[in-house]
Amino acid sequence: MATDDPSVETDGPNDVERMDREHVFGTWAYQREVSPTEVTSGDGVYFTDARGNRRLDFSAQLMCSNLGHSADRVADAMAEQARRGAYFAPSLTTENRARLGKLLAEVTPGDLSKTFFSTSGTEAVEAAIKIARLYTGRHKIVSRYRSYHGATYGSISVTGDPRRLLAEPGLPGTIKAPDPYAYGSTLDPMESLEYIDEMLMLEGDTVAAVLVEPIVGSNGILVPPPEYLPRLKEIAHAHDALLICDEVMAGFGRCGEWFGSDVFDVTPDIMTMAKGITGAYAPLGATTVTGEIAAHFEDEMFCHGHTYSGHPVAVAAGRAAVETYIDDDLIPHAREVGDYLGRELEKVADRHPSVGEVRGVGLFRGVELTKREGERVPFGERKDKLSPGKTVVDEVSSRAWNDGMHLASMINTLIVAPPVVITEDEVDEAVAILDEALRVSDDAMES
Ligand code: PLP
Repeated sequence: MATDDPSVETDGPNDVERMDREHVFGTWAYQREVSPTEVTSGDGVYFTDARGNRRLDFSAQLMCSNLGHSADRVADAMAEQARRGAYFAPSLTTENRARLGKLLAEVTPGDLSKTFFSTSGTEAVEAAIKIARLYTGRHKIVSRYRSYHGATYGSISVTGDPRRLLAEPGLPGTIKAPDPYAYGSTLDPMESLEYIDEMLMLEGDTVAAVLVEPIVGSNGILVPPPEYLPRLKEIAHAHDALLICDEVMAGFGRCGEWFGSDVFDVTPDIMTMAKGITGAYAPLGATTVTGEIAAHFEDEMFCHGHTYSGHPVAVAAGRAAVETYIDDDLIPHAREVGDYLGRELEKVADRHPSVGEVRGVGLFRGVELTKREGERVPFGERKDKLSPGKTVVDEVSSRAWNDGMHLASMINTLIVAPPVVITEDEVDEAVAILDEALRVSDDAMES
């Protein structure tokens, strides 16, 4: 770090930061609270700001830079495609688009085999909603309260988290179901499923799909029991509804498997992907469907598309990224380092009374705080997501930031989701910073 005392901010915003602050919206924020830091470069699991401060990226930016910041193979593939021809219309194709479509058919489970490409996770979910409606001829989507599926009107309507509230009224026919897990609650995950079964029955053949994150991401890294997702698929199918798994955050090694669905050995009818699909080198979303759903659109119109669907530079990045996961054995690597990370986080939890629970799989872990030792009493509530100011978990993240680490936080949970290329030594370095930062929440506990 550039300063001797890392908790002291020595200078205010520089020219770039001031210009940005004035002319560019900060996302999901009261603009008065926005203060962007100018970043100048990234290197492996680290990135460096304009003042020369180097930080370890323990959340892979927005849980998306899975390949870290030095994936030259991806950068080279993008540059090569941009020089050869940066854009061709979606009615044409490129070798990268065709090969990426085939690769996705290979790495996704079961008979998921045909993909629609877009430019974000949000758009991948929008496409999934439209495909499910067109395929089933029904219009309702059941999703859950503790979920995030995107920012545009369809995807925010199926989102359960508080960010939906400011976008309401949203898409008609979007219904929320209970979650398999809530911190501090005695809710039985399998009973929550029987409730969904009853919802589908009572909605009387109008539900097109049940949409879930197999492992919930930004709403707190929530892992259901092993039998939950298989049973959810059974329930959906018993009511002739589809199962859509939103793998935008959980996919591409994050869970120590290719996808969160693989953790539970389930093949959804539709899978949505983004983020890790290019290691965040280019904006790319993907919605992949089974052969049966794909066949439906042979003689029914696939009534969807974008100018940038299958953008040549984005799919070049996607192909190079997926080939990197395969050739560098990054999925088994993520599983091994993920197990190590899990063990180290448990040790940290033992040292800090303000850690109520550590949970997760692979390199997808949540550290949830408690203000009362031995209980699960959050410092932050869901409504805080829409309020100005910082929660205690944000203060812990700020401390980590000042000590040389980026660590995402949401309401009451720290989101540990480093690039999947991270090594055990780098995990040690990050965990040491986390260990110090958690003193902030220990000090904020109720006495
Ligand atoms: N779905 C899930 C599970 C996500 O975590 C996100 C973003 O965090 C999205 C969808 C939306 O993706 P994007 O921000 O790329 O539009």
